[in-house]
Amino acid sequence: MIIAPQLIKWYHKNKRDLPWRNVDDPYLIWLSEIILQQTRVAQGLGYYLRFMAAFPDIRSLAAASEDDVLKLWQGLGYYSRARNLHDTAKYIVSELDGLFPDNFNDLQKLKGVGKYTAAAIASFAFNEPVPVVDGNVCRVLARLFEIDEQVGNTKSFNKFFQIAETLIDKSKPGIFNQAVMELGALVCVPSNPSCAICPVREPCGAFQNGSVDRFPVRARIIPKTRYFHYLVILYKNKVYIKKRTDSDIWFNLFDFPLIETRTIADLDKIKCDPLWAQLFGPATINMIEAAVPMKHKLTHQTLHVNFYKIKVSVPIRIKSGHYLLIPVNKISDFAVPKLIELYASEFLQ
Ligand code: SF4
Repeated sequence: MIIAPQLIKWYHKNKRDLPWRNVDDPYLIWLSEIILQQTRVAQGLGYYLRFMAAFPDIRSLAAASEDDVLKLWQGLGYYSRARNLHDTAKYIVSELDGLFPDNFNDLQKLKGVGKYTAAAIASFAFNEPVPVVDGNVCRVLARLFEIDEQVGNTKSFNKFFQIAETLIDKSKPGIFNQAVMELGALVCVPSNPSCAICPVREPCGAFQNGSVDRFPVRARIIPKTRYFHYLVILYKNKVYIKKRTDSDIWFNLFDFPLIETRTIADLDKIKCDPLWAQLFGPATINMIEAAVPMKHKLTHQTLHVNFYKIKVSVPIRIKSGHYLLIPVNKISDFAVPKLIELYASEFLQ
């Protein structure tokens, strides 16, 4: 199948004007690709511009503190991306003299850089003919070739990658890759694709056979349900926050002291948790407000969260150095998950 000429022609006429287009600086390409993973362009755009303004080159990003990087990333989710971004910037500056590897294989050795991001940097910045295969590209290929395999696993990724290798325009790999991605974002969208205006509808198997709705084949992921009980402990107009140091969601962000239960639990049950006894002496609690419930959806987890506002008359017992007592109005200075930001803005100011 040959799709490159018509696809590239369509791309030049229809591509969106985005700030990371027409750049060949591997740093900016890398930054945009990491931000745009699992993120819509409309949401990622502001983050990209803010990162570019704060850290215009790899040396400025490497010199930043992790807290500053996480703070700028706040609200974008998948915080491991931000930590890897920062670690990789430091590595490139200290070990590679500030220069990105210039090929697909070496790029994959960087922390947080998988095949997808390596291919984007290699083809956009260094013109290496290697295909970029993301969710959009898989959808386009699954429909073009009526591929029955589930998308989203390593086996099918390899298959899509091999097919994309046969299609790529070796003289303009960066443009070709961006054209397929753009087609997936604008025309061959998940529901109701605009086949009538698609530049590759003639060779498209799914369009020709009326089977567009059957592709791509997706695995159904049932999100895990978790029950969080936040202890929003207030002492003299200050609140306790805690850095998350376990390998779990929101690593290294700040939240409140947390008790997690396997099922729905009321305050009496929470008071039986060892953390409760650890934190509070027998007579320190002045008042506990009724729980504020919130539901928070992550890609693979649904969190049922209760926030308990608890006023204490003497400081709580803290054994770990990860707790901080901060003025209530300073919480916005810290990198916190979106959920904590929402709660604090509505119930703590
Ligand atoms: Fe996608 Fe339709 Fe184009 Fe086929 S014809 S690639 S299904 S938009």
